Amino acid sequence: MSLRVLILGGTTEASALARMLAHETRFAPTLSFAGRTKAPHAPDIPYRIGGFGGADALARWLVDERVAAIIDATHPYAARISANAVEASRTTGVPLASIVRAAWTRKPGDSWIDVTSAEHAAAATGRVSRRVFLSLGRLELSAFAAAPQHHYLARTIDPVGEMLLPPHVTLISGRGPFTFADEAALLKAHKVEIVVSKNSGGGATYAKIAAARTLGLQVIMIGRPNKPSGVRLADAAAAVVWLEARVASHGSSRSERGV
Ligand code: NAP
Repeated sequence: MSLRVLILGGTTEASALARMLAHETRFAPTLSFAGRTKAPHAPDIPYRIGGFGGADALARWLVDERVAAIIDATHPYAARISANAVEASRTTGVPLASIVRAAWTRKPGDSWIDVTSAEHAAAATGRVSRRVFLSLGRLELSAFAAAPQHHYLARTIDPVGEMLLPPHVTLISGRGPFTFADEAALLKAHKVEIVVSKNSGGGATYAKIAAARTLGLQVIMIGRPNKPSGVRLADAAAAVVWLEARVASHGSSRSERGV
């Protein structure tokens, strides 16, 4: 029987893992999206969209769906779902492993100010009016209403809709991966002086950091939250190896029970 796997997604790694498991008869994976983006790329495996309703409800879902392994492949800044997954794994005994993407580190020529939240990033932009590129989630833009002296260029995946925004803001939509050439051209075209970013890690959104370095721009880097994890894995390929080991131990525990 196939090993039922829940992949908590919304990232490049989750999509890569879904592709790797798509034609593997040993696994019966379901990819879960939070539903933040209006049109997530539909995977080749069964998927569901929307929150579970907290850790207890996630635990019930795992039991109802007879899930035998969880891969938390959520974004480094998605801390709540990871805490819920750790808790649901603890209460149900379903093993959990997390794909933890390495953070970006400073390279020669980088000029980063480290902060811990969007609010602190807004404060770090300074009092003098600047041209600021916000490469953040839509929900983080409101924090910059507290720094109305700047001219902002804000890029989000979906249009932002009705929400509190700083007064001078140009909104654009875009979904990575982004190239160095395109990011450098965007920063130059909008005469950007400061880039505000999360330390997402990975290659898909790194080009703006490299372009900022080349153009000599300040980067305000919002640090990662402390996010609980199960076993830590580097990438989707490592997750497949971990799942293969679960297939082996799942099979032996079933035969021990005479199932
Ligand atoms: P979060 O703060 O950790 O989660 C908030 C709530 O959203 C969770 O309690 C859970 O609701 C639901 N949720 C989150 N991820 C889910 C998933 N994969 N499947 C089902 N429900 C999920 O997360 P977030 O920062 O809002 O991020 C939401 C999603 O966007 C995640 O899937 C993440 O991988 C992706 N993402 C986030 C960022 C970022 O910067 N935060 C960037 C890129 C992609 P219930 O408690 O009701 O179950």
